[in-house]
This record gives sequence, C-alpha cells and structure tokens, in this order.
Amino acid sequence: MQEHSSTAAFPESLELTDDNAVMQITWDDGHLSRHRLDVLRAACPCAMCQGHSPSQSLNLKPDQFPDIRMMDLAPVGRYAYHLVWSDGHDTGIYTLKMLREMENSA
Ligand SMILES: [Zn+2]
Repeated sequence: MQEHSSTAAFPESLELTDDNAVMQITWDDGHLSRHRLDVLRAACPCAMCQGHSPSQSLNLKPDQFPDIRMMDLAPVGRYAYHLVWSDGHDTGIYTLKMLREMENSA
C-alpha cells in the first residue's frame, strides 16, 4: 500500500466515550479526535448515503440519529475502519484520512 506514506498519522488508541456516544481517537502524533456517533453516522461515506454525485446524496443530518450506537468496528487494512451501526447500516468504510480531517464534534 504505497499511497499510505509513513508520515501519515495512525490511531494509537480508539475508544467509545461519553456513554458510548463519542468515538475518541488518539493519534500517534498526539492529535486527539472526538467524533459524536450521530455526526459520524450522518457523514457515512458509502454510495448509498452519499450517492455518486451531490444530487444523489441522502443529505443525512446528525439529528436523524439521536440514539445511534456502534455495533462493530473492524480495521480495513491500515487505511480505514468498517463501521456497523445500530440502525443496521453496515456499508460505511471510514478512511483514517476522513476520521483525521473531520472536525471534532464533541
Ligand atoms: Zn452509508
């Protein structure tokens, strides 16, 4: 996987905090990411949620997922996580780049 340069930050630890409502990632360069799960769910990057063009996007909003929980999280190689949500949605592959670049929401 040549495109993943050794300079890119990698998660050192990843945990659910705030009564399982926040995904907290500590990166190996010391950066801390805190993403509310409702924000993460609404940002699901899969083709079903985002479509192949902006006009096809479901335009999901965090307030549509008030009680969302993360049921499973599995690494995809060293570049992404496959997240399974409590609403049954399981096609979202969240890249490390995306998780790193998303603004903290918690
Ligand atoms: Zn999706």
